[in-house]
Amino acid sequence: MSNTGSSRSGSDGRSPQGGPGGRRNDDGPRGRGGDNDDRDMPWRRRGRRRVCRYCADKDLAIDYKDPQALRYFVTERGKIVPRRISGSCAKHQRAITTAIKRARIIALLPFTMAD
Ligand SMILES: [Zn+2]
Repeated sequence: MSNTGSSRSGSDGRSPQGGPGGRRNDDGPRGRGGDNDDRDMPWRRRGRRRVCRYCADKDLAIDYKDPQALRYFVTERGKIVPRRISGSCAKHQRAITTAIKRARIIALLPFTMAD
């Protein structure tokens, strides 16, 4: 009888095995809710894909004569979508920018949109 009583007698109720107790301290200083990390990442925001379109599809060519494709990289007002939003890599973003500028000159894309 006395043996069983001693092991259970931990009236404190804290970590009976002693295992989880140590971990707790590590998570503490991180701040509130370490699980919410995802929300804090600015580049994780909203939908657009992170992978560069043109890297993903090698058959896809950046063509200034193809406004349909370039539309994707232009806002409604005619501005070029920044890389961090479009998700394209530096190399292709450069090509896209050039293509858009050319397309503007030959009037396939607007320089700007008036309301
Ligand atoms: Zn790319």
